[in-house]
Amino acid sequence: MEKGIKLGISSCLLGENVRYDGGHRLDRFLTDTLGTYVSYVPVCPEVECGLGVPRESMRLVGDPNAPRLVTSRSQRDLTEQMLAWARKRVAELEHEELCGFICKAKSPSSGMERVKVYNETGMPVKKGVGIFARTFVDRFPLLPVEDDGRLHDPKIRENFIERIFVFKRWRELLSKSEKRGNLVDFHTRHKLLILSHSPKHYQLMGKLVASAKDISTKAVYEDYQNLLMKALQLKTTTKKNANVLQHMMGYFKKDLTTDEKQELLEIIGLYKNGYVPLIVPITLMNHYVRKYDQSYLKGQYYLYPHPVELQLRNHA
Ligand code: SF4
Repeated sequence: MEKGIKLGISSCLLGENVRYDGGHRLDRFLTDTLGTYVSYVPVCPEVECGLGVPRESMRLVGDPNAPRLVTSRSQRDLTEQMLAWARKRVAELEHEELCGFICKAKSPSSGMERVKVYNETGMPVKKGVGIFARTFVDRFPLLPVEDDGRLHDPKIRENFIERIFVFKRWRELLSKSEKRGNLVDFHTRHKLLILSHSPKHYQLMGKLVASAKDISTKAVYEDYQNLLMKALQLKTTTKKNANVLQHMMGYFKKDLTTDEKQELLEIIGLYKNGYVPLIVPITLMNHYVRKYDQSYLKGQYYLYPHPVELQLRNHA
């Protein structure tokens, strides 16, 4: 079990009664299912910046790119109070070594996107980012961040969880001394995972690792981290996954019997046409990897990017 994964989370999603009305927004998937594999660092910006429970509700007003945080009835401007606290809090979070953050959707403090911002006539546009969420993302631009609403979409959920597991392994790599050999090992095991997100990044990262001798190790690590996180932000598609599966088959050419080859091609075809989920060809592929002891593929995180109990590839 990967207990080492730490995620920041909006406290109300854990069932804490911190909302303005004294309630919570418990999300059972996050506590009972994902919570088995990660530990959470709860953050409630409104309570932690000094506002009580219950409290007056608030909203974002003004310029959607730089909104103010104002209470709905008494029009008290809380922007500076929230910002001063947020800057301090993100500096503290630096020491937590987070692998991601789950925000409460739509909140003027915690929401990561499409938060309502009201203009002077009281009309909202869904273009804002919560004050704390903005401070957090500015400080940790590469960290996987999602909100509870978006995580109900199976593809977004799969992508987020895959990214936090990769980030955890990346942090483990960083905790060792920066050696080119360590980076090569990391890259080798993530190759097919990267390919399933972005063939372009797969090529760029391959070149970066190969050309590493001309650049300082520190610079290579930095460039690699940037490319890795950007690659994984791009969604996998059925087409990209089918491409990876066919690529994998290349490693078995000499081992698979005609029947096995035929069966694998059929299953990949069924996946490509939407008749079976990704878990089906992956399971068969895993079977042959073990049967023929294919060492390169055995090491590929693409085959087991996150715990199977999360059932994330049953919908991909
Ligand atoms: S949305 Fe954010 S500020 Fe509001 S109660 Fe939840 S954690 Fe606190």
